[in-house]
Amino acid sequence: MKDPFNAPVVILGAGQAGAAAAMELRKLGHVGAITLVGEERQLPYERPPLSKEALLRPDETRVLIREARHYSDIRVDLRLGVRAVEIAAVSRRVWLSDDTWLEYDFLILATGARARRLPMLDALGDRVHRLRTMEDATRLRSQLERGARAVVVGAGVIGLELASSLVELGLTVEVVDPASRVMSRNAPEVVSRLLHDAHVRRGVRFHLGTSVESACRLASGIRLVMSDGVALEGDLVIYGVGAVVDDGLLRTAGVDLLNGALMVDEHCQTSVPGILAAGDVTVCVDGRGVPRRMETWENANTQAIIAARTLLGLDSDPPQPPWFWTDQCGMNIQFAGDMAASDWIRRGDPLASNFMFWGLREGLVTAAVTVNWGREMRSAKLLIAKGISVPSHVLADPLLNLRQLAKSGAFDARADVQPVPSAPI
Ligand SMILES: Cc1cc2nc3c(=O)[nH]c(=O)nc-3n(C[C@H](O)[C@H](O)[C@H](O)COP(=O)(O)OP(=O)(O)OC[C@H]3O[C@@H](n4cnc5c(N)ncnc54)[C@H](O)[C@@H]3O)c2cc1C
Repeated sequence: MKDPFNAPVVILGAGQAGAAAAMELRKLGHVGAITLVGEERQLPYERPPLSKEALLRPDETRVLIREARHYSDIRVDLRLGVRAVEIAAVSRRVWLSDDTWLEYDFLILATGARARRLPMLDALGDRVHRLRTMEDATRLRSQLERGARAVVVGAGVIGLELASSLVELGLTVEVVDPASRVMSRNAPEVVSRLLHDAHVRRGVRFHLGTSVESACRLASGIRLVMSDGVALEGDLVIYGVGAVVDDGLLRTAGVDLLNGALMVDEHCQTSVPGILAAGDVTVCVDGRGVPRRMETWENANTQAIIAARTLLGLDSDPPQPPWFWTDQCGMNIQFAGDMAASDWIRRGDPLASNFMFWGLREGLVTAAVTVNWGREMRSAKLLIAKGISVPSHVLADPLLNLRQLAKSGAFDARADVQPVPSAPI
């Protein structure tokens, strides 16, 4: 095996994690060949704008991670429009859909995930949409007409961002979801309520606790019949019901999978020597054996950096609390830490332009959600990472100098603090 700084690296998946891994390798001084293989024809791009600015202001929105020139400048060989079809881990080769193969010393799997399909809806033709790729966004945009009726299936992050953008574009929007609250998978109840009410004020109609039982195409549009008997009609239907990992390629490599995703350790190493992985394709099992699946922009970038460092034999910083954001109804909402916290405390007035929530578990600060208050997030993350116990009246104080508190860690876990009651929200 060559010196890792000289070793040929193949990266499969030219998305957020794949592009970030290639750039990080070069930044760290890797000088060997790097080949970045992507099934899509586009240069690597950011997906978050697809449900937001790219729908609202397509002409002003830049989605490319880097221009083509950058990849040639840093000598990354981009192979776009080509799919990896098989990995022979023993001989360290990858077969591609154009009948060529690549040899590697190290392989980074960054093949992401795909939008989960609902065949019942897909069967209804071209007025039904999903949103994962730039191509999906372009097709959707071409059908967005002021006054049209849209039914959004799925009240998760993507469904809600879509609802927000469509209302802004002048469509009428109904959102359906089997869960009893919006963003139930990744937001605490208090934030679900806030989002629900903000969307309702903008005219969105929700049908929660009910699922699509049947669907058909009519001359006047698409008709969905829900499990509670309610029938909805739309000119177009867009569904966002989660993402799934396409495991066909992974199985050829013989890497261990867990709950349908590719298992990696904290160093982004898979079970097969020489194969690392990053981004939406992974489920990370930490040192305590706890699996964490994160499908976020930040995780894709962070794991890409870790994978690049591990490949080169370098250590990485300890993990930070997970973080993601969403933009809806004119609000920028950022989430950090464990959203399953048991108590939530509000800091600031919800009628003011910015406020936040703290999540606590057994008195320790384990989560934070900021609303239009992103500048507090860095310090909030620090507090979460330190596992500090802070009295609830201090956390609730809008005048609190969070930066100072996070830096000093004045309230540590040993401090004599009363049990923290949940402040009214
Ligand atoms: C509409 C939308 C909005 C989002 N908004 C937010 C947000 O606001 N905040 C946030 O934190 N996150 C957001 N995300 C999530 C974030 O974009 C993803 O977590 C991130 O893109 C994951 O990066 P990745 O590189 O793992 O996967 P991807 O970006 O999906 O890249 C994987 C690439 O691999 C390619 N590929 C797959 N199989 C093969 C193969 N066999 N051979 C070659 N290439 C292959 C795919 O075509 C794809 O281009 C959003 C996602 C979407 C879809």
